[in-house]
Amino acid sequence: MTWQPATVAAARAETATARTLVLDVDGWAGHVPGQHIDLRLTAPDGYRAYRSYSISSAPGPGRLEVTVQAVTDGEVSPYLVDVAEPGDQLEIRGPLGGWFVRRPADPRPALLIGGGSGVAPLMSMLRAATHPTRLLYSTRSPSEALFTADLATARAADDGRIDVTYVYTRVAPPGWPAPPGRLDADALARVAWPRDADAVTFVCGPTGFVEAVADLLVDIGHDPANIRTERFGPTGG
Ligand SMILES: Cc1cc2nc3c(=O)[nH]c(=O)nc-3n(C[C@H](O)[C@H](O)[C@H](O)COP(=O)(O)OP(=O)(O)OC[C@H]3O[C@@H](n4cnc5c(N)ncnc54)[C@H](O)[C@@H]3O)c2cc1C
Repeated sequence: MTWQPATVAAARAETATARTLVLDVDGWAGHVPGQHIDLRLTAPDGYRAYRSYSISSAPGPGRLEVTVQAVTDGEVSPYLVDVAEPGDQLEIRGPLGGWFVRRPADPRPALLIGGGSGVAPLMSMLRAATHPTRLLYSTRSPSEALFTADLATARAADDGRIDVTYVYTRVAPPGWPAPPGRLDADALARVAWPRDADAVTFVCGPTGFVEAVADLLVDIGHDPANIRTERFGPTGG
């Protein structure tokens, strides 16, 4: 797959340390929710670095969005969050990935479980969803949660197709019914679809989060064949 030019069309702050970049790409045919791209930067001296980023927007031609959480001392993510601006040229290749995808026409109900920036590909799935979809989003605190306004809008839609549940691991909002803490089997069991619902579960986030959640899902009786995972480990070159 070849590199193609992409132009930063807009940038939106999601939190103090995360930003969504809107990229215009000539000839972009769209993606399947869950897929990612590789994004490459070239410095004035010719030095190049690339990293993988999930597509957080709904599928569509000519334009896509990625949502980047700055990693302290990272080479690429702080540039994308703090420096890149509309008009900048980058390169991308993709869309990539054929397993961690939810086709909008798939009629099965879905449970999406995201940790931190792992919510990015799940947001694409949720934006394109035409069938019942539950999101369980584990975030450190309300101020670090991504897509807060978009998720509130999706949850408020009156057809009841989308449900969103937060788990706060470090700081919960005032009056939150549970103390902050890690996602556990009880929280999972509360949002899980009934066993006979033929549901599919997508889990995305840091490697440790994904492995812990996948183990918990199996412990509470989920069939591993219906669990798809994506690990946001270090990438690139
Ligand atoms: C399929 C896939 C999709 C991804 N999608 C997204 C996305 O949508 N949004 C997003 O913000 N990130 C995403 N990532 C992670 C992203 O590719 C980079 O790894 C991340 O932005 C850090 O790059 P960097 O150049 O800033 O850090 P680097 O210079 O690569 O690393 C700096 C330091 O941070 C550590 N580190 C690197 N990556 C991570 C990480 N992900 N978590 C914790 N520590 C890390 C390194 O080991 C190193 O010590 C995705 C990863 C994968 C595999």
